[in-house]
Amino acid sequence: MNANQQLILDLIRDVPDWPKPGVVFKDITPLLADPRGFAAAVDELVALAPGPIDIVVGMEARGFIFAAPVALKLGAGFVPVRKPGKLPGKVHEQSFALEYGHETLTIHTDALWPGARVMVIDDVLATGGTVGATAALIKGQGAELVHVAVLMELGFLEGRGRLVELGAGTLSAVV
Ligand code: AMP
Repeated sequence: MNANQQLILDLIRDVPDWPKPGVVFKDITPLLADPRGFAAAVDELVALAPGPIDIVVGMEARGFIFAAPVALKLGAGFVPVRKPGKLPGKVHEQSFALEYGHETLTIHTDALWPGARVMVIDDVLATGGTVGATAALIKGQGAELVHVAVLMELGFLEGRGRLVELGAGTLSAVV
């Protein structure tokens, strides 16, 4: 583990039983409030880019915080994936199952183009549902999903295996 990874781990706070009993929430707000920690997180995510990237996609809401600075550092554009009713233009939608119920994510229909090299950035990979739905939205526009990078992977939830099943491409995590 390098010094950046140690700093990032030290600055992510575990909040037990939030938002519901049995869940340990990974709170990134102490990391964001620390300029060295925030910079370390962005630098480590940038380092996971496999070659040139045209577009970094980030998911509402915490994915935006990391995806936007990563896009700037990579010389790439930023495209938001949002919950329904937030994007003003024509959208593609993708629904996925949550533990209880369903969630839907949307992307502007003209956000990507065939062959665009796209990297997805999110804060936490849990079950993989969010990343899986985002991957489907990206591939639906004919773009190439070259890599998924997350700050933290909750390995015990086996999201990585689910993404392989969904054909969501390669994934790496900073911590
Ligand atoms: P999932 O779709 O199950 O992989 O969940 C991923 C999304 O939910 C990410 O965008 C995270 O921000 C959030 N999330 C899920 N579980 C946690 C957790 N234990 N701590 C913090 N964020 C979480």
